[in-house]
Parts: sequence; structure tokens; C-alpha cells
Amino acid sequence: MRTVVAKFGGTSLADAERFRRIRRIIEADGDRRFIVVSAPGKRFESDEKVTDLLLRCYALAAAGEDFEGALSAVGARFESIVRKLDVDFPLEAELDKLRRHLAGEPWRDYVVSRGEYLNARILARWLGFTFVDPEWCVCFDGEGRLDAAVTRRTLGAALRPLERAVIAGFYGADMDGKIYTLSRGGSDVTGSLVAAAIGADLYENWTDVSGLLAADPRIVPGPRTVKYVSYRELRTLSYMGASVLHTDAVLPVSDMDIPINIRNTLSPDDPGTTIVRRLPKGEVKYPIIGVAGRTGMSVIQVEKVMVSDESGFTAVMLEMLKNRRLPFEHCLTGIDTVTLVIRSDLLAPCKEELFEEIARRLKPDYLGLTEQLSMIAVIGEKGTESCDANVRVLQALTQAGIPINTINQGAGKLNLLVGVPEDRYEDAIRAIYAAIDDSMQ
Ligand code: ASP
Repeated sequence: MRTVVAKFGGTSLADAERFRRIRRIIEADGDRRFIVVSAPGKRFESDEKVTDLLLRCYALAAAGEDFEGALSAVGARFESIVRKLDVDFPLEAELDKLRRHLAGEPWRDYVVSRGEYLNARILARWLGFTFVDPEWCVCFDGEGRLDAAVTRRTLGAALRPLERAVIAGFYGADMDGKIYTLSRGGSDVTGSLVAAAIGADLYENWTDVSGLLAADPRIVPGPRTVKYVSYRELRTLSYMGASVLHTDAVLPVSDMDIPINIRNTLSPDDPGTTIVRRLPKGEVKYPIIGVAGRTGMSVIQVEKVMVSDESGFTAVMLEMLKNRRLPFEHCLTGIDTVTLVIRSDLLAPCKEELFEEIARRLKPDYLGLTEQLSMIAVIGEKGTESCDANVRVLQALTQAGIPINTINQGAGKLNLLVGVPEDRYEDAIRAIYAAIDDSMQ
């Protein structure tokens, strides 16, 4: 028997109707034995997520204000689910417990975690699965940091004897039982920890889109869905702004080579995107998986004749950034130039004094700043190995009359990065997408 961990996000569990949908999905495949859940999400665009309502309850209670309105909104969400599904669940008693906690000295993470806790208990009761409270098996250290190694052992020991279980996502506790939450969207991470702990064959992440798209659909109409993507490619895509999965969700499963399959609850027959280290036999992976980008970048350019012979020049520049805790996105070095790509919002507060220090300490022949740039990544471990793809990208930009400010491709060749003016960002994405369309899956 295979073991599949299926994590359902907030939109997949927003109301009783969606509970019914996910029940059909769970029961359609007996291998889906461990179910990880988020709190109920938005039912419609202007709706509020239960986690946000809980955050409001906490903020009001901590400020000594009346939290009853926010708490009753939380109660109403769960009451409607419990009533419509006809689940025998002590909701009132649970809400009273939360009310008493809020009226005392409320602990933020405890309050915020109750959305996942209640949702998982209700679903477990309704499915007839065992409820597993991460309070006992997702372990945080004394400083409130997740301890992945201890969690793996503890979760594994808790889950292995069970046939089927529902586990609440997003939180855990330290040795003293103090609840801590992961960062927002953290149930993805819990799903990954569960999959790693029991050595699952597959980690399914059910959401409201049919996988990763090869480009931003607000820019490219109807882009393709990526069928297979490697863990490394996904990391680049997320870094460039694609937000299908929490970035910390990759590590626990990638360590164990467990594939992640992104699926759509609203369209369960779509195969979605599978994130893998190695492709299953017989599957074809196309060279390029997509194009993504970020705007709001600045480029600092420093030139000095013979700088390439001067050791430590780049190190001094990077030290100036480090002293200001200013991260850089890319650092490109030429024969006598050093180019730094930095996020404009981070650079803004220290721009003048940084330039003054560079001028004083490094005495460059030229010191320039280009603002309002965007960085575009053409991603594909295989694709960017072929010069053909690079030629096509650069040609497409040139033909569209888009100036290219920077080009960056390390020896790792995971992606080609080009810097173009921000006001041509969308044109550039469209031009590149059209040029590489036939290299994608
Ligand atoms: N409910 C939490 C959030 O809204 C965690 C999650 O959904 O994964 O961020």
C-alpha cells in the first residue's frame, strides 16, 4: 500500500460544500491516509479568513477591547460547517474555552492556531479518522523555532501506528506545551513534515489552482501549466514571486526525494504540477519551465581601471552592504566593473551615504545608479544549458525594442536573468514567453 499525504488549503475547506468536495477526493484514493488541513479560508473575494478573524480577536483582547464580535464571526464559520455536515462536535465548549483564554492573558499563537485545530477536529470526526494534535508532535525549541529533526522523530512515532489521521497544520508546541505557529501559509510546511516523518510516497498539496503556471496570467493570457518542475526550479520560481507553495515546504520532502503534487480541489482531475528531484521513468521534461520576474530593482555600477588586479575590491563593497544589513540580489563582475542589483525599497533609506562611502573608500572612475529596473528569470535546468534558448530570449527582447541592462547566468545554468527597464517589464515577459513557447511543456 502506498502512503499519500494530502494537505488541503483554506480555500479547499472554506465551507461545508467544500468539505464535501474534499471528502470525495480523499475517498477516491485509499492511499490518501494522512490529511493535513488549514483553517477555513475565504468563501468569496471580500470574505475574511478564519486566521485573520482570530488575529483580530487576539489584537482586541490584548488591547483590553471587546472581542465578542470577532469571536462570534469565528464561531459562525464553524457552526455553519458543523450544522450543514451534521457532525456531532462540541463547538460551544471549544469556543468557551477560547473565550476564557482571550479574557485572561491571551497568547497570540495559541489564539491564531485555533482555526486549524478546530477544522482538523471537525474533519476528523466527520471522516471517522483519528485527530492528531500537532501540539504533541510538531516540536518547537525554547525560542519558538521549529525543530525539524525532533519533529521528524516525534511525528513519525505518533503517526506510524495509525491507519488514517487528520493533522492540524500551521502550529506545534515547545517542551512546556506552549503553542507556536509557523509563518503564514505554514500548513504547507506541516504537510511536508508529515510526509517526511512517515516516508510518504507522495505529498499532495490541494489548493485552488491547477498547478504552477509558466508565466503570470495577468501578463500572459492563458499560460501553460507546468507539468514537472525540479525542487531547484521551484525555489527560483518562488523567489521570483510565484506563490503556490510556502518556500519552507520544499526542504523536508526534497531531503527524502518525496514528490510534491500541486492539485486543484475545484478541478480534481487535472494532473497539476509535480515537483521532483528526478522524473518518473518515461516522462518527458521540457527544457524551460517558465518565465517570471520582479520589479522594483536598482543597479549600482562601479568602474575602476585595473580593478580586476586589485584583490579585495568587491569584498570591500559587499562589506559596506553587510554593515548596513542591506542584502543584494545579484553581484556581477566584469573586467574592471562590479555591478550590484539591489531591491530599491531596501536601498532607498541608505542610498546617499552608501554612495558617499563607495566614492570615498574605493575612489572609482565611474559610479552609476540605474533605478526602476525589473529582473526577469527564464527558468529551466536543461533549457538554459542550450545556447539556443538564450539566443531566442535576447533576440526576442531586441526585436521588441526592449533595452537589456544586465545579463546574468552563473555556471549552474539554472536560469538566465535579464534586467530590463521596469516600464517594459510586461512587454518583455510577453516577448520572452512567445519566443520560448515551443521549448515548454
Ligand atoms: N491559516 C494559516 C494562514 O492563513 C496557515 C495556512 O493556511 O497554512 O496563514
